[in-house]
Amino acid sequence: MSAEMLDFDQIETYLACPQKWEYTHALEIRPEENTQSFNRRGKLLRIALLTTFNSVEGSSEAAAQMAINFVDRQWDRFTDDGLYLSDRQEEFDKSVTKRALQTYLENYWDDHLSSAVEHGTATGIQVAGRTVKTGVDLLSRQNNGHFVVYDYVPTLRGITFSHPQENKADQYLTQEEYSGGYISSILRAELAIRGVSEDQDVDTNDVSYVVVGLHESVTTTDGSGIDGVAVEPELRDLTEWHSEYSESNHELLEATVSNITQADTTIPESWRSGLLQSTCRYCEYKDMCKPRFNWGVEF
Ligand code: SF4
Repeated sequence: MSAEMLDFDQIETYLACPQKWEYTHALEIRPEENTQSFNRRGKLLRIALLTTFNSVEGSSEAAAQMAINFVDRQWDRFTDDGLYLSDRQEEFDKSVTKRALQTYLENYWDDHLSSAVEHGTATGIQVAGRTVKTGVDLLSRQNNGHFVVYDYVPTLRGITFSHPQENKADQYLTQEEYSGGYISSILRAELAIRGVSEDQDVDTNDVSYVVVGLHESVTTTDGSGIDGVAVEPELRDLTEWHSEYSESNHELLEATVSNITQADTTIPESWRSGLLQSTCRYCEYKDMCKPRFNWGVEF
């Protein structure tokens, strides 16, 4: 593949907010470290899983123990004291992280891992003159030859099934109730399914895409704090969105890649209220993006 490479993370950031894409990818301004706690947790969970996939042959219990040991060893590298109000809060968070890995590995090891063909890899396709790549956490091949891509996130928040009326993905760009960020997960699924189908030389209908939310449904079952915590990983299959809306999704992917190539940071008018209500609030650049909707800020 000779075309210039574009990582899907750029598309994800662009769909969250084109101005944020400019800060992150065009100007390469690094936000404050402690604003990245959620991302770092996601990274820790993913690395722990991929390390475990790489190293263990045998029982799900052995895999779970290896993942737990990894988190114990690496925790301090992925967090800092400033993230927590108290030691107990940090302990709780660490406990939930370990329990999430343990529950996933003990419950899904046979189903997801026994048929694994690759993990911690990437796939890509040509879109609007660029090679767009996305990571693939785990690729499994079932007995009937069907492939399943599994990707891991801390929770399924933001991983959506929602679709605007008339089933046109690009309508996300013109409807107030949908900001672009809501469609990132669907476009990532679209890209992964097409990429794996090309890599494996199979039809796109022979590839599924599933996101695993590891921290989903955290509950303290008996009110006793850390020891009483229950963690239920949750799976969300986005394959149907590919089957039903593939062309529309791909058109939006192409339009977004073209905008990025042209460094177009125009924010659709219809996104403003959604951005102000949610995205800006959690944005790492909100302090410098004054007054948040002043796109003309110069450096
Ligand atoms: S503060 Fe809001 S407008 Fe500014 S970069 Fe962040 S999300 Fe975009």
